[in-house]
Amino acid sequence: MSNNGNKIELPASIVVRDLAQKIERSPIDLIKKLMTNGVMATINQSVDFDTAAIVVAEYGFEAVAEVVEEEVKEETGEIPLWRQLIADEDKTQLKGRPPVVTILGHVDHGKTSLLDAIRSTEVAAGEAGGITQHIGAYQVEMKGRLITFLDTPGHAAFTQMRARGAQGADIVILVVAADDGVMPQTREAIAHAKAARVPIIVALNKIDKPNANPERVKQQLAEMELVPDDWGGSTMVVPVSAKQKKGIDDLLEGILLVADSNEIKANPNGKVLGTVIEAELDKSKGVMATLLVQNGTLQSGAVVVAGVAHGKLRAITDYKGKPVKKAGPSTPVAVMGLSDVPSAGDLFEVVPSEKEARAIVAERQDAIKAQAQSRKKLSLEDLFNQVQTGEAKELNLIVKADVQGSVDPIITELNKLGEGEIGLKVLHAETGNIGNNDVMLASASKAIIIGFNVQADVDARRMAEKEGVDIRLYEIIYRMTEDIEKALNGMLEPDFVEKILGKATVLQVFNASKFGRVAGCKVIEGELKRGAKVRLYRDSDIIYEGDLSSLRHEKDDVKEIRQGYECGVGFKNFSDIQPGDTVVCYILE
Ligand code: GDP
Repeated sequence: MSNNGNKIELPASIVVRDLAQKIERSPIDLIKKLMTNGVMATINQSVDFDTAAIVVAEYGFEAVAEVVEEEVKEETGEIPLWRQLIADEDKTQLKGRPPVVTILGHVDHGKTSLLDAIRSTEVAAGEAGGITQHIGAYQVEMKGRLITFLDTPGHAAFTQMRARGAQGADIVILVVAADDGVMPQTREAIAHAKAARVPIIVALNKIDKPNANPERVKQQLAEMELVPDDWGGSTMVVPVSAKQKKGIDDLLEGILLVADSNEIKANPNGKVLGTVIEAELDKSKGVMATLLVQNGTLQSGAVVVAGVAHGKLRAITDYKGKPVKKAGPSTPVAVMGLSDVPSAGDLFEVVPSEKEARAIVAERQDAIKAQAQSRKKLSLEDLFNQVQTGEAKELNLIVKADVQGSVDPIITELNKLGEGEIGLKVLHAETGNIGNNDVMLASASKAIIIGFNVQADVDARRMAEKEGVDIRLYEIIYRMTEDIEKALNGMLEPDFVEKILGKATVLQVFNASKFGRVAGCKVIEGELKRGAKVRLYRDSDIIYEGDLSSLRHEKDDVKEIRQGYECGVGFKNFSDIQPGDTVVCYILE
């Protein structure tokens, strides 16, 4: 067996199906071979290297350990389209460009104040009387270098941009108020930045406040894997006061430092493309759009395609409202001349002629139509398939639960499940109902949303439908872990999702000659339905699970009964009911 042809490289663990494929034998055959060696494994289970080595030896192969390249901790998230499009630019032509920065953080932590403070230092230092117009982005100069700030309110735009694969920022400034600490939207922002693989600098704002507690915030950041640099970590944390305009220069210098350690380059003479920052229809001027040039140099008179809008650019102005003839990489400009209003986050490109522009737009419109028709839900099953085919290496999850006390054990359980071959990554976990933001994040990161004892808002449901995001609601942790485990093992049947119909409290228990022991209940939420499934809780324990066998209102049999009404409920083959128990009625869809 010295010949190389019989050597096969095997990883530390391998799924039976893949192993069979590797040695070109049928999986059944392999499973039998494993059995004769005392190993019971199904086609979807993994065996370790040693076991695999013994079995393949029986087929005449010599197993050698696969050389694993040094593991690069891969962040989730996709490489934005514009980056992909310039991937083939001549490396020798790449030149440094200003970093593009966006500011995220919890509401009231000072994002707007910080953007204003940064802008005003520039105005003071720059040309006198330079009243900047608001075009959704601006630039400042620090040590002779430019920094571009995206000045879009809130992070909805950022999410939207990323959701469309056109994320524009190179660096995220995460504003955290020193008197308030890490809050839900702070966590959300961290999840966004991580998923987009954008480095984070923390602006520890409001340090002027007497109750500011920077050390506490640093502790919270460290807990979120953003270990501050002065604690030996790699996250730059810069104390600032947007109100007193303190620390702004430090922050700008910090941005330059982070920019220097990340390759922020483009080819000013290459393909001209970038991202639409914002756009609107002005009654007198027509379509006004703010574009961020990301590669190449945009010139006035150029023909541009942006999403499904196109046109010959009539006028280009910089963020100060000054007309410019051309704009290089990382420059935000306001343009006129587009036929339609493009969406924020759309990619724009310069094309040779208006004829070509029209053709591209027509093609895109057709594609959009076709896509809408074939839009498929990105479900747990699909995701699993993608993991199997190597398209995705881990399942991304977003967890929403009713109380923090549930969030922690859920994450612990999920982390346990994620120790196997396929990683599980909780991008974001928080208390509260499932809202639009969660769906946007899920859509952008190809994640599924797990809700535990929470509901999905009507808007969120609609958006999930549109974006093709899978929302799974659970009431019991083991059911959730069971589903995910099945998905990870490729056994999830595209089957039923539990839909809670309603809840009732047992007020008293009585004997009915016809039905045996019956629970006298009051419906406290939704409705109960005859023939549906029920689960009976005593405190938080489940004491019965089965069918709702009889449902009566006063003396009548009813099909269903709504919130606020009292009713008699019988359970199939179960009589150990007590007052105070909770009935949860559900169906499997
Ligand atoms: P945003 O919602 O994150 O954009 O927050 P804003 O910029 O609107 O700021 C929210 C509030 O915090 C406003 O009342 C600001 O005046 C105040 N604020 C912002 N930065 C500071 C700061 O550095 N110090 C103090 N004391 N207050 C600040």
